[in-house]
Amino acid sequence: MEIFIPAKFIYDCSTYRVKDPGRKSVQCALCRNKECLIGKNCSVIKSGLDYSGDNLKSIQISAWLESDPTKRTKLEEIAIYSKRLGYRKIGIAFCIEHEREARLVYDILSRYFDVFSVCCKVCSIEKESLDIRKTVESEFEAACNPIGQALLLNDDRTDLNIMLGLKTGYDILFAKYSEAPSITLPLLELPSTGDSEIDFIE
Ligand code: SF4
Repeated sequence: MEIFIPAKFIYDCSTYRVKDPGRKSVQCALCRNKECLIGKNCSVIKSGLDYSGDNLKSIQISAWLESDPTKRTKLEEIAIYSKRLGYRKIGIAFCIEHEREARLVYDILSRYFDVFSVCCKVCSIEKESLDIRKTVESEFEAACNPIGQALLLNDDRTDLNIMLGLKTGYDILFAKYSEAPSITLPLLELPSTGDSEIDFIE
């Protein structure tokens, strides 16, 4: 399906705008030619991208997952990706509202990896101490603590962290402080995940 782009926004990648002196920005969202599909490099990057070592393995596994016709859940894909990259430790940073899903993911992944899990209320920081208004009438209300989640998983030296149900902003802070790469596992797919065994094709 072709997406309609008003004519005044049609963008020619060969004459893309110069915003700051000496600096060019591509605007792929406005480009209709998409000549990068057929070998044209219209970016300022001409060489030096580091697709070697683990980066090379990563992109090769991603391309294989993308092209393989087997239908898999995101959790299966994460597990396969992690196995193939030789990851041993997986972290789960989850929202406390989704403790059941966190338990399910823990149970499945712990068959194959060492799994570490930290909920959003870890450290039990009083909301008022961060100038956050309480949402319920109670003496104490704990704030979400994405930096704490990241630091604890950093301490566990996880290879990859899964963000489960972290709300907008908390996920951003978590990713900012997580030393391991982090990925969101969509909650919507979990009911269909069941208690499945993951089929690792070596
Ligand atoms: S990289 Fe592709 S989509 Fe982006 S401006 Fe160039 S040709 Fe267009």
